[in-house]
Amino acid sequence: MDDCIFCKIAAHEIPSTVVYEDDLVIAFDDLEPQAPVHTLVIPKEHYQDITDGVPAETLAAMAHAVDEVAKAKGLGSGFRVISNKGADAGQTVMHFHMHVLGGKPLGEGLV
Ligand code: ADP
Repeated sequence: MDDCIFCKIAAHEIPSTVVYEDDLVIAFDDLEPQAPVHTLVIPKEHYQDITDGVPAETLAAMAHAVDEVAKAKGLGSGFRVISNKGADAGQTVMHFHMHVLGGKPLGEGLV
């Protein structure tokens, strides 16, 4: 997608702090972190959100990338993974992504 900022990050056309990368996915630190660790995991191909027909192989690669991020960031005591779909969930970048949040106790609630 020409105008998608995350497609440009995936293509290394705009800079990001890359935490993990393989053929299918890339993980990079969020520009406006909401926790001491806040890293985004995205597929390199453009999918709008988690319901947009993402291939199983890509979903598995994202799960693997989440684990790599957790190891790289020292999140052994726990972390949270969130993926927003659509306006009511607060999705602002319409390229499927998982937020990996941690580095402090996050509380028991989901929202
Ligand atoms: P929200 O903005 O409500 O968190 P999303 O779930 O769509 O909505 O998350 C988009 C995330 O992308 C935000 O956390 C935002 O800080 C992050 N972000 C936007 N542009 C960049 C960028 N160029 N590099 C890193 N993170 C970015």
